[in-house]
Amino acid sequence: MPRIIVQKYGGTSVGTTDKIKNVAKRIKTYHDRGDHVVVVVSAMGHTTDELIELADKLNSNPPRREMDMLLSTGEQVSVSLLAIALDSIGVPARSFTGSQVKMMTDGNFSNAKIEMIDRTRIDEALGENKVAIVAGFQGIDKEGNITTLGRGGSDTSAVAIAATLGANECEIYTDVDGVFTADPNKVNGAKMHERITYDEMLELASLGAGVLHSRSVELAKNYDVVIHVRSSFKDIPGTLVVSEEKLMEHIRVSGVTIKNEEARVTIPDVPDKPGIAAELFGALAKADVIVDVIVQSSPSNGKNTISFTISRKSVKEALPLLEKFVEANKTGKIELNEKIAIISAVGVGMKSHVGVAAQMFKALADNNINIEMITTSEIKISCVIPEAQGKSALKAIHDEFI
Ligand code: ASP
Ligand code: MG
Repeated sequence: MPRIIVQKYGGTSVGTTDKIKNVAKRIKTYHDRGDHVVVVVSAMGHTTDELIELADKLNSNPPRREMDMLLSTGEQVSVSLLAIALDSIGVPARSFTGSQVKMMTDGNFSNAKIEMIDRTRIDEALGENKVAIVAGFQGIDKEGNITTLGRGGSDTSAVAIAATLGANECEIYTDVDGVFTADPNKVNGAKMHERITYDEMLELASLGAGVLHSRSVELAKNYDVVIHVRSSFKDIPGTLVVSEEKLMEHIRVSGVTIKNEEARVTIPDVPDKPGIAAELFGALAKADVIVDVIVQSSPSNGKNTISFTISRKSVKEALPLLEKFVEANKTGKIELNEKIAIISAVGVGMKSHVGVAAQMFKALADNNINIEMITTSEIKISCVIPEAQGKSALKAIHDEFI
């Protein structure tokens, strides 16, 4: 039985015709050794952004169905060009749009969820010894409308196809070498992981480590697909994203990340009564304001202090809603700090090692960095700190643990 390999190439990996040629050469080496290769590609370079700009010039609130119709064209260009490039070096290939492989999704335009993939046409191509090239990021709903999966969604297309085919590997080719302990552009001595768990990767992705689309990691976890993150420009091994059982040893901290451009809101003297937090955060959710860290003090004299962080961009939108809440509930005055950052340490080993939090706080203290808020989960510790000290905090915590 030939191995089934799913490979996904991101926009930068197919940004020019020269780069497409390189991708084709890489695919040829797999095809030559007898693998069944299914390739998922994103749109070339900044195509998707450019298409959005075009629409924006015509309509500041374009119909979502038409946006998906528009954006899906980017991937249609890259799949066909790749098939053309493969043909020129003697590799038979066949490209498919999302609708041609019946990548069935719900009808939620611009953020559709995959419901089912029909493997028939992919199997047919593979059976004829062809490379199957599938457009990433796009699908089709029950009514036959073209849908897209949300920005960066080609990773999710690739993992969904790998799960459907029971592929031996799902390689995600990208412009970084793999998954690091911190952003190598920000931290000297950041190390590349050989392996990392799905859960760590999910925490790191949502913290802005930006290597993989979060939904692709969730899907891989649910269907036990090993994701292999690797460079499309260098021939080096990269990082495997695997289940916890596949790791011999659980390190305490596998990644440190920082989220900038955040703001902290504190509301003192909030009456301590049922439904008050729901009222506050319900109003923010309704206005699509994303809230990250939330800390509520335990009640004293029938009052609480509620603090939370939002992105700095959403402050303008959130403030009027908060003023309304303050007015209605006669709370204390809103305190706003727009110069904060959130620093987080992530590691599955935190479950079994004690003292990680204390060690992190000490590293910050030794560098004279004040902690404004703290939250933890089973595998993550996050601290809100002054933004100006973000860089030194990142270095201090990375040095401490890695
Ligand atoms: N081309 C789409 C985007 O730019 C999908 C992707 O790159 O994964 O978001
Ligand atoms: Mg991308």
